[in-house]
Amino acid sequence: MPKDGAAKDGAAKEAAKKEEAVPVVYKCLRCGASWEETYNPADGPIELTCKKCKSNSVRRLKKQA
Ligand SMILES: [Zn+2]
Repeated sequence: MPKDGAAKDGAAKEAAKKEEAVPVVYKCLRCGASWEETYNPADGPIELTCKKCKSNSVRRLKKQA
């Protein structure tokens, strides 16, 4: 089954990826505030809330190396 194969491949790829926190930049689309934090992909999707205005219109950006 091609569907199963794709899922298995995806899972293997995920497992091979090291789970470690990465520095990211959060930017609030509402008030424009931005701040740095570490994000651990192992934590799964987390709720993003602006530290300043409590809006959840926050984007997570990859920090430029
Ligand atoms: Zn904000």
